[in-house]
Amino acid sequence: LDNSNQYKDLLKKENLRNTKHRNSILEIMNKSDQPLTAEAIFLELKKQGLSISFSTVYRALETLLNKALVVKSSVTDDNKALYEINCQEHRHHLLCVKCRKIFSVNGCPLKEYEKSLEKKYGFTISSHKLVMYGICDHCKATKEKE
Ligand SMILES: [Zn+2]
Ligand SMILES: [Zn+2]
Repeated sequence: LDNSNQYKDLLKKENLRNTKHRNSILEIMNKSDQPLTAEAIFLELKKQGLSISFSTVYRALETLLNKALVVKSSVTDDNKALYEINCQEHRHHLLCVKCRKIFSVNGCPLKEYEKSLEKKYGFTISSHKLVMYGICDHCKATKEKE
């Protein structure tokens, strides 16, 4: 997803009115290299000069969620829901234990492993989650300076 026309197509496909708010929300998520909290999205919309309330952002997110245009994940342990665009491509996450930033990783190396597990246990796997915990590049650099 590189331009706003594609969001419009997405929204149209799901019979959602292409409101400026929803479009902007999807745009913000698309530009981010990590899943975002509703608050972070709200603050970014404000920064862009949109007059919008937090509850409107929250409602828009719930609508996009119901239409499966975004996905909600809760990989943090502070119970904050994180949102990101629902790529057809399955993603994994890297979580920095120092700054709590989450990075999305495209691609999955576990397809073969899934197949072997299905075979071994006669189990049909529908999905999986993988989160790697560690220290991000930025935090490592900061630590080295100290
Ligand atoms: Zn970090
Ligand atoms: Zn995977």
